[in-house]
Amino acid sequence: MAKKLFNRLSDAVKKRTNGNPRIVEADEHGINPSEVSRSARHVVEVLVEGGYEAYIVGGSVRDLMLGLHPKDFDIATDARPEQVKNLFDRCRIVGRRFRLAHVYVGRDLIEVATFRGGHRSRSGRAHVSVTLGGRILRDNAYGTIDRDALRRDFTANSLFYDPTRNTVLDFVGGVEDLKQRRLRMIGKPAVRFREDPVRLLRAVRFAAKLNFRMDPAMEQLIPELANLLDAISPARLFDEGIKLLHSGAAERTFELLRDKGLLHQLFPRTEAALERDHPEDLEFIRLALANTDERVRSGMPVSPAFAYAVLMWPYVRQLLDELEPGEFSPRDALAICADRALEHQARTISIPFRHAQMIREIWIRQPQLEAGPRSHPERVMSRSAFRAAYDFLGLRALRAERLQGAYQAWTRAQEKYETGPSDAPRRRRRRRRRR
Ligand code: ATP
Ligand code: MG
Repeated sequence: MAKKLFNRLSDAVKKRTNGNPRIVEADEHGINPSEVSRSARHVVEVLVEGGYEAYIVGGSVRDLMLGLHPKDFDIATDARPEQVKNLFDRCRIVGRRFRLAHVYVGRDLIEVATFRGGHRSRSGRAHVSVTLGGRILRDNAYGTIDRDALRRDFTANSLFYDPTRNTVLDFVGGVEDLKQRRLRMIGKPAVRFREDPVRLLRAVRFAAKLNFRMDPAMEQLIPELANLLDAISPARLFDEGIKLLHSGAAERTFELLRDKGLLHQLFPRTEAALERDHPEDLEFIRLALANTDERVRSGMPVSPAFAYAVLMWPYVRQLLDELEPGEFSPRDALAICADRALEHQARTISIPFRHAQMIREIWIRQPQLEAGPRSHPERVMSRSAFRAAYDFLGLRALRAERLQGAYQAWTRAQEKYETGPSDAPRRRRRRRRRR
């Protein structure tokens, strides 16, 4: 049954493509040209004047069509990286696995990628190495625009915008899917997930961020294939984790990840701790992620350490519960549990050292902050992790009345400290030594 569906889907994709795109005009795609980065437009124009094809592609076209503000603008072209470099003064070729050109225009960086063939090379030559399970290890064949469209993950991510003509080229039915707010894989989901299991996480991220309905055949596969993520390096999962948590829809993403068995893949100990059925743990994560979403949406800074500290907290709490009461001081107990939690987490996601240090600091400062400001609170407040630890306490306090007094006391202490030290001795400027 499922198989038939996939075949039908992929036939539909083939029929629609055949190398001939649907050309979508302004009245239909609705892109507001003033939302298009001038730098990206400039790069396209220079490439076109140089005799090449060039388009704005990927997430930026999707976001423009949805009336969202794109994060960055990527360009795809038939020019090779060296040919791109010849056209621009400020251009660098980067990447080992797949070479790209980075073009600098004013203060903007525009990524220019040459069309890639994907593994469906017409000549049948193996430009791509694949594992027995179908995972793509290397994918470095140049291709044509229609091949490039097909190697992308979702139809919504595979639209090509030509700013010189103000048209969108659609090889995969992406425009219709965008209108229907539908997230659909290009090709057979089972194959595409096996090629690159990170697409499982990308599916959830885009569904949550764009508030799209996943194509049912694809959605149904995600829990079945979740364990393919075992093969993904912990370093790549760290990067993907940040994208999931800082998308501006982290709360919804978290629910979807849990629902699809992906939280278990990324944060197995958190998933197990949540199954203990302590509703306050789940509540804490939801509130904290809602808060992160708020910050992202209003352009405030967010830190990976904070989001990771939030997601791993239920496991830390579980470990604390398992310690013999009274055996360690609260701070020591937290230090022990923090190290254990970080050690376990490192098996699936490798958190760079400086972030891990910060996460640990956020946790082990909690007992000190819970006790409220004592003498010389400015010493505590001047620590680098203070602000994050204080925010963390604030989120915990939202559902724990006993913490509210301490949190408010720290809020007052900071206000006093910020306005206070005008009469404190200023750091003397060091005089330049004479030679
Ligand atoms: P965001 O707005 O989060 O940056 P994006 O769609 O731009 O979303 P990127 O990760 O920046 O996502 O990738 C740019 C484009 O490259 C995507 O739109 C997609 O077409 C293609 N792409 C990226 N990762 C993959 C992947 N794992 N498999 C297939 N295509 C991919
Ligand atoms: Mg992008």
